[in-house]
Order: sequence, then structure tokens, then C-alpha cells
Amino acid sequence: MAKKDYYRTLDVDKTSTDTEIKKAFRKLARKYHPDVNPDNKEAEARFKGINEAYEVLGDPEKRKQYDTMGDRFFDGFKPGGSGFEGTSYQDFDNIFRGRGGFEDILGGMFGGGARQRSSPVRGGDLQYLMEVDLEEALTGKKVDISFYHSTRCTGCGGKGEKPGGRSDACSSCGGSGTIAASRGIFNIPQTCPSCGGSGRVNIEACDSCGGKGELPRHEKLNVKIPPGVDTGSRIRLAGKGNAGQNGGPNGDLYIETKVRVKEGFRRDGQSVFVDINISVPQAILGDSIEVPTIDGKASMKIPPGTQNGQKFRLKGKGLPKMGGGTRGDQYLVIKVEIPKDIDDDTKELVRRLDDKIKRKG
Ligand SMILES: [Zn+2]
Ligand SMILES: [Zn+2]
Repeated sequence: MAKKDYYRTLDVDKTSTDTEIKKAFRKLARKYHPDVNPDNKEAEARFKGINEAYEVLGDPEKRKQYDTMGDRFFDGFKPGGSGFEGTSYQDFDNIFRGRGGFEDILGGMFGGGARQRSSPVRGGDLQYLMEVDLEEALTGKKVDISFYHSTRCTGCGGKGEKPGGRSDACSSCGGSGTIAASRGIFNIPQTCPSCGGSGRVNIEACDSCGGKGELPRHEKLNVKIPPGVDTGSRIRLAGKGNAGQNGGPNGDLYIETKVRVKEGFRRDGQSVFVDINISVPQAILGDSIEVPTIDGKASMKIPPGTQNGQKFRLKGKGLPKMGGGTRGDQYLVIKVEIPKDIDDDTKELVRRLDDKIKRKG
């Protein structure tokens, strides 16, 4: 048995399929995510352990190594890089949907060797799902979020090379970085595919980032959610996604909002609908009642002869467009409650009422 039992950490069996492991990871990662458990050290430790376990068991190659090597597996394995709070998040797509981010970082951990790309690459975008109340959608709010994104490695300045580290001259191009490809009678110089144009191979990888030139970093931001957001609204925070490579720009962070369902309220764009139950006498005689709005209670006059299904509009009690402005309206949808169990006296009363109505008509 190995030093750390990753199967136990993820609460799966040694015979579990990749899909089962993935499912178990997602479930646990959601449960112990720092956003869900702010300032909970135990949850944080669990979360790290879960991510570490999944870094191994979630990758068929690494899992095989782990299964066969036992304790020796840990000799060459430093989860999350060196001394960093890094976790993979590669599969944590419900809260974070990173595109082109941490898979790369993980690749570097076992692959070794500095990367040999030289053209600028834009960093991946990140997506953060945030739930807001209907009241918060009305007023907007400021909220602290914490998330991981990749940043340029300070150990190597993003190059991925160990400063002063060793390397060999590329044998394919003789160190020039270009090779001559012949097309008919022409010799066209091309970037050497073996070294990517650097002229060097077997470049010693940066110790901090494993050669990827980037590192996962935990960041906290105070985010302003504008008034009027709806489910599916997106707020873009430019440059807060993953780090660009080789001088490429950073990706963006998108906050996607989900407006929580408020009991009794239905929303359609800027309009809000609320069902109002009234009694038969109230419908016939009219009444003054209290009704719920997003702003709190409001009073409303029901006119005599109000019909079932009739709608009343409360002007300006809906929601603004995203970013603010004039508010939409709230609609009160009347539901007349017909009593089901009534005694004989009441039946007699209703009969008399029926007679009266008939005589009138
Ligand atoms: Zn580095
Ligand atoms: Zn070369």
C-alpha cells in the first residue's frame, strides 16, 4: 500500500472506472470547494487532497504508475508544483470552466523539459458561476470571489527554462533554428520542427513551473455585479483569465450569473409575476390587501367584481435592464379560491346569492 491512498481520498474502489472516478471527484470537489467553505481550514485541506488524488487517478497513465509503483511513485511526484497552493481544476467545470489552462500545467509535471513554443499565445478564458438573489439582481451587489488562474511563472519569467540551466544544440538544424526544405529547385528556410526554432533541445525545465512557464495562483477579487442581471448574464473581467504565453495577452474571466428562484415570484426579462390568492367575497366585493414585491410589501386595492386570472400591473416594480435604468413592471395574477368544504348554512347562503344574481340578470 502506498503512502497516500488516493482511492480512499476520492472514496472509490481500485476497480472503479474512469467515469466513476471523475464523478466522485466532481462531487467531492464541489462539497469542499473554498468558495463554499470560506475560512474552513479542514475543508481546504480536504479540497487539496481531493485535487491531488484526482491529478493521479484522473489520468490513466499516472493511475497505472501509481497502482504499480507503490511508495516509489511519490519519489518523483510533487503535487501542484513546488510549494504552491496549486490545484488542477482541470475537470472542475461546473464552477470553473477553464479553457486551455491547467491541463497544460499538469502536462508539465510529468512530461519534463521546457516548452519550446515561441509565438504569442493568448491565455485561456475562465468562467465563474455566481448565484444571486432576485433582490440582488434588482440592486446589483459587490462580492468577493476567489478563484485560481494561471499566471506567468516568476522563476523563469514565463520562458519555462531553468535560469542558467543546461541545454543541447539541436542536431536537426545544427543550432540555427531553421532547416532548408526543398520545393522543386527552391530551398525555403523553415522553422526547425525539432526545436521549434530555438536551436536548442533538452532544455532544462524551470523548477517552479516544470517548464510550462506558468503557475496556478489563487486570487481574490471584489466584483461588482450590476443591477438587472438575469440567469445567463455574463460580466467580463478583462485580463483576469489565464496568463498569455510568450507575450500573448491574458484571457478574460467571465462571471456568469444565475438568479435564484424566489418563492412565489416568476421573472420574465424585466417583468415579474406574482400569483395573488383572494377569496370569493373579496373578488365580489373588492378589498384592500397586502402584496409582496421585490422591494417589500405593498398595498393594493382589488376592485369589486375582480375576475379569476385577471392581471393587475404595479408600474416600476419589475427589474431594470442589465446595467440599470428604468425598471420594468410587476404583474399580480389573481387566483380566486373557491372553498371546497362548506357547511349547510353556507350552501344556503350561496343558493340565495345565486337566486339574487339570476333575478338581477
Ligand atoms: Zn518557471
Ligand atoms: Zn532545430
